[in-house]
Amino acid sequence: MMSCSVYSFAWGLTGHRVIAEIAENHLSGKARREIKKMMGQERLAYWANWPDFIKSDTTGVWKQTSAWHYVNIDPQTDLAAFEKNLKAQSGASLYSQIKTLSAQIKDEKTSEKDRKIALIFLIHMMGDLSQPMHTGRSEDLGGNKINVIYFGEKTNLHSVWDGKLVDSQKYSYTEYAKLLDIKSKDEVEQIQSGTLENWLYDSHQIANKIYAQTPNDSKLGYDYQYKFNDTMERQLLYGGLRLAKLLNDLF
Ligand SMILES: [Zn+2]
Repeated sequence: MMSCSVYSFAWGLTGHRVIAEIAENHLSGKARREIKKMMGQERLAYWANWPDFIKSDTTGVWKQTSAWHYVNIDPQTDLAAFEKNLKAQSGASLYSQIKTLSAQIKDEKTSEKDRKIALIFLIHMMGDLSQPMHTGRSEDLGGNKINVIYFGEKTNLHSVWDGKLVDSQKYSYTEYAKLLDIKSKDEVEQIQSGTLENWLYDSHQIANKIYAQTPNDSKLGYDYQYKFNDTMERQLLYGGLRLAKLLNDLF
């Protein structure tokens, strides 16, 4: 049952596109112009899932990027301990790569092609960051090893949060982006405040709540969707607004 590419298709197709679409609505004029120079007419949502698609590439050139989609961390209950643990980690992760790719985009020596690839990864990875199970525990691989039954189907906790909750609402990504993106200017600023570490900790705290309420072998159905729908929608919105903030700061 367990596949090797356990982290495939975070947020599913729709979730990543919702996040990219919301971000696009909140770009500054400067960021919009710079991104247009890099991407042409293509919308951010068009590229939002590409870093998952390349997991199917058989040439091996993208192999090293599979660790960029998540950061596994033991449950931490305060920000200082979380940050300490995060910064002590070695090797490429969601956290280290967001910083590396941001620096690449800022570096004038980076080629046009590499800058575009870095941007596409950031669009995707800021989505992964807001999917709580991408900041979960290492022992269960962010919920991949927590078996659950979802509407009678054997699956795992990570997968429920990747796509199933979002897809259960049956909106297109543009519909969903429009429905969620309704906050006032002040609220948007509030959501966009904080550091990358704060944002990761925010997701991590939600992951801890999800773990507590979804033990192994849980049977999940409408009640679970009902209980966590607000959380899932919050994460889509926050992911989009924080992606916009990251890009506005970069350009
Ligand atoms: Zn991903």
